[in-house]
Amino acid sequence: MADLLDVDTAVARIIEGVTSLPVETVGIDEALGRILGEDIRADISLPPFPNSSVDGYAVRAQDVAGASRQAPAALTVVMDIPAGKAPDRAVGPSEAARIMTGAPVPAGADAIIPVEDTDSTWRAASSSSLPTEVRIYTSAQPGANIRPVGEDIQAGQTLLNAGTLLRPQDIGVMAALGQALIPVIRQPKVAILSTGDELVSVEETLTPGKIRDSNSYTIAGLVSTYGGVPLRLPIARDTLNDVRRLFSQALEQQPDIVISSAGVSVGAFDVVRTVLDELGEVNFWRVNLRPGKPLAYGHLRGVPFFGLPGNPVSAMVTFEVFVRPMLLRLAGRPDRVSMATAIVGEDIQSDGRRSYLRVRLQRDNGRLMARLTGTQSSGALMSMVLADGLLIVPENASFVRAGEELPVALLREV
Ligand code: AMP
Ligand code: MG
Repeated sequence: MADLLDVDTAVARIIEGVTSLPVETVGIDEALGRILGEDIRADISLPPFPNSSVDGYAVRAQDVAGASRQAPAALTVVMDIPAGKAPDRAVGPSEAARIMTGAPVPAGADAIIPVEDTDSTWRAASSSSLPTEVRIYTSAQPGANIRPVGEDIQAGQTLLNAGTLLRPQDIGVMAALGQALIPVIRQPKVAILSTGDELVSVEETLTPGKIRDSNSYTIAGLVSTYGGVPLRLPIARDTLNDVRRLFSQALEQQPDIVISSAGVSVGAFDVVRTVLDELGEVNFWRVNLRPGKPLAYGHLRGVPFFGLPGNPVSAMVTFEVFVRPMLLRLAGRPDRVSMATAIVGEDIQSDGRRSYLRVRLQRDNGRLMARLTGTQSSGALMSMVLADGLLIVPENASFVRAGEELPVALLREV
């Protein structure tokens, strides 16, 4: 296989020097699932004021010392503090304030007695909803049922680090701090075009000799899955003018990556190559990989370009192996492929290229068994539909015996 380019060498060349895209600002409603571009520090403490963790009465702990059901402490109710209201006076000796969960603890009070441990009485003929007197049935330590300033967050604290994939709770904490605009890494824009005279679009009727374009959809789906924004272009016919027109259209969108499928294999019409040569520098690689040996990689007007093979499975596998690492780097996302080890369920012949075989996975006594999904033709998209993972047969293997263990890149959780 001396004339074939090693897969890892190819990937290393592709990602060399690639760093994440610049930071942009989005509204907080758009930030979920994005990658945080800067550290987020708290400019205030939360809670910002001491507040009650229960509905009850704010008291001075010394006024209820020794109180019990048999010997309640009787206090005068001097104010009502619903949530959202700032107290307008302090609580003095033998006084209490009715207080709701989340409401500010008034000056003077240092404990909150839950309403369940109290009874209240109204002065005769009182029309107020606020009782005049409360009987407290329990004693309390200073600080009881009070959430102090900064219990959750201290001003100055770093809450979230740049590079964090934003989850709902992360969005919530930024909302709590009043951060309406969120700095996030810009999502890579990926222009996708399919080339081929045989292709018709998904809405069109099939006529003899034609097939529908599926690659632009699988590729767009992969781009979205890995945090990019897909820009699908119309199908390019195998004519110089059409291919030229659509590649120009792709570049006009100012993409961060351009991906085309088909037209890069030996024997393909050379219109794609001609246009690529006009637009930039592209190398045609023969990679030690199956499926997906032919791969074009380079730059078009400075934009990274991948020419993936046309066969639907090859297009997906070469995307996973070559495009994904670059896309994730640009997006500022970690490239963690979910891997497992599986026992091969049948003898497998291989040809010395690194092979990605589509397998179903089944748990058997805590171990994973891998079985081929049926035909491994690089044109059989159902082999990907049925697959739970891609079983990786290493370079230079010509035969794998049933019962051996091999790594699997998971395509879904099993
Ligand atoms: P090529 O790379 O042009 O030699 O194409 C290899 C195979 O992939 C041929 O059978 C094509 O018909 C098929 N093919 C090319 N482009 C697509 C596409 N966008 N969607 C589905 N199949 C395709
Ligand atoms: Mg073709």
